[in-house]
Amino acid sequence: MWEFSTDPELARELSWVDQFVDAEVEPLTYLLGNPHDLAQPGFDRLVRPLQRQVKERGLWACHLSRELGGRGFGQVQLALMAELFGRAQFGPVVFGCQAPDSGNAEILARYGTEAQKQRYLGPLLDNEIVSCFAVTEPHGGSDPTLVRTAATRDGDEWVIDGEKWFSTSARYAAFIIVMAVTDPDAPRHGRHSLFIVPKDTPGVEIVRDLAFAGEAEPAHGHVRYQGVRVPQANMLGEQGEAFAVAQARLNGGRLHHAMRTVALAQRSLDMMCERAKSRVTRDGLLADKQMVQEKIADSWISARQLRLLILETAWLLDTSDDQRLIRRHISAVKATAPRVLQEVAAAALQVHGSLGLSNEMPFMDWIAQGIRVGLSDGPTDVHKIVVARDVLREYEPGDESFPDYYRPIQRQRAREYDEAHSAHEPEAAPR
Ligand SMILES: Cc1cc2nc3c(=O)[nH]c(=O)nc-3n(C[C@H](O)[C@H](O)[C@H](O)COP(=O)(O)OP(=O)(O)OC[C@H]3O[C@@H](n4cnc5c(N)ncnc54)[C@H](O)[C@@H]3O)c2cc1C
Repeated sequence: MWEFSTDPELARELSWVDQFVDAEVEPLTYLLGNPHDLAQPGFDRLVRPLQRQVKERGLWACHLSRELGGRGFGQVQLALMAELFGRAQFGPVVFGCQAPDSGNAEILARYGTEAQKQRYLGPLLDNEIVSCFAVTEPHGGSDPTLVRTAATRDGDEWVIDGEKWFSTSARYAAFIIVMAVTDPDAPRHGRHSLFIVPKDTPGVEIVRDLAFAGEAEPAHGHVRYQGVRVPQANMLGEQGEAFAVAQARLNGGRLHHAMRTVALAQRSLDMMCERAKSRVTRDGLLADKQMVQEKIADSWISARQLRLLILETAWLLDTSDDQRLIRRHISAVKATAPRVLQEVAAAALQVHGSLGLSNEMPFMDWIAQGIRVGLSDGPTDVHKIVVARDVLREYEPGDESFPDYYRPIQRQRAREYDEAHSAHEPEAAPR
């Protein structure tokens, strides 16, 4: 059965989230710095009370399923909430589901040992600490099988050597989950393992922090690992299973990013519409100009299409075990979200004229964010390849020159069908 309505109880919660984000969470953007910097002045005073309210309301860390210690809301409900709190920079932190911590918590809960969960998962879920996930290296990121950072066994320890970059929040993190080669001779997808590396381990050095366009401060670490020793107990998941474990964290993470993208696209649309109805030029309102109307219509349609694709994907995650179908949908979402945010934010910028381009408005940041979303967790090109390959799996080749759907063939077949059937029908009696 198809259903597009919202359960009244959930609708009440969503309405609370909407008002709470407007009144309490949005202002934090102008009062604080990076949401992952737990030590910044004002964080305890301004953020902690809001997190307590979310916990009391039962909406904290709602991305985790019940068996992983969460509330078991499911992805559809999370999607509907994330599109509301995702419009505020501090929304994910206030609701306890900020990346990369949300994905890291998921794999710790799913694959971690009891000791790992006790030491890292509890404090991470409570946002007492922040974490980092390090795969990308200076020589390449789109193809993680190229990871060169190596971990060599030495007794009951592993010694890690290598270099990672774009490790988001490394500077704030208490620990980094590092992907390293442990079995160089194994098949491509069985060579790597994951290690939990406390950031204060000797040999971990942040060479420098990079910032992307549209970001206020550098917080993506270029991190060097030289003779970094961790005990066997710090391996996350089985040896050689890094890809399987990482996949589990990426599914939800990619969807959550996209949900927040819908929130920013909707915010851009809201601003564009308000401006169009406020601003007069030549003989009338901007809202009366057809080219402005086209921007509004195209933006609404694109944002709506993305939202529906996300909700369908969230529903699949909640209800289906078909991992291939889920993967195809997630890649489709991941490939669509950057384009939609860039399109809608650019249209809103245009309708605001020079003000829109200025740094007193957020549109350039959101366009840059669209580009960032198209690179983090794998570039759009790679996700389109995943979609296309999976779609193509459903088809068989036909005749190289005259395909079955060639009209003359269809016509001929229709004639044969007609003749075969009319031969069995009794002649109509003459009137
Ligand atoms: C905001 C942000 C946060 C990030 N956070 C992290 C993090 O926390 N941890 C981490 O490990 N990494 C992180 N990254 C890095 C990110 O995962 C990589 O940048 C990404 O995987 C692409 O790798 P690359 O930059 O090395 O591009 P390359 O692998 O050099 O690829 C360059 C371009 O080539 C094209 N391309 C690549 N492969 C193909 C293909 N198969 N077919 C066709 N075209 C292709 C794409 O257009 C791609 O953009 C982050 C990136 C961003 C933007």
